[in-house]
Amino acid sequence: MRIEQQYTGSCLCGAVCYEINGPIGEIVECHCSRCRKANGTAYATNAPIAKADFKIVSGEQVLKKFQSSPTTQRCFCGECGSPIMSIKADNPDYYRLRIGTLDTPIQQVPVCHIFVSSKAEWDSIHDDLPQYAERP
Ligand SMILES: [Zn+2]
Ligand SMILES: [Zn+2]
Repeated sequence: MRIEQQYTGSCLCGAVCYEINGPIGEIVECHCSRCRKANGTAYATNAPIAKADFKIVSGEQVLKKFQSSPTTQRCFCGECGSPIMSIKADNPDYYRLRIGTLDTPIQQVPVCHIFVSSKAEWDSIHDDLPQYAERP
């Protein structure tokens, strides 16, 4: 039997609200330059969720999509700019959720750093998690 878990999340302005009725996959810190630009931060904290488990509860009409690479669409709130998730053409059954938008507490913690080869020169990593130049 599958264990059902429900999480909720929202953007900064509250227009976009979502729920996840299923597990959240491994959380990674992505240092790639596109995540840095999209978030304005040193890295993005992302985890896979099944598309089938994900539901936009409100704000579907303000959710904007930006094609940041030939295979990646980034979805964000058109009102406040919060990044919500990305969709990869080569893995269409999963979304990569931006964990910082969750409202439900989670027990999981990040498992690794990826795209460390693109890390900002002013950023330093202060934990013992595995680091990968690109993907594991
Ligand atoms: Zn918003
Ligand atoms: Zn990235």
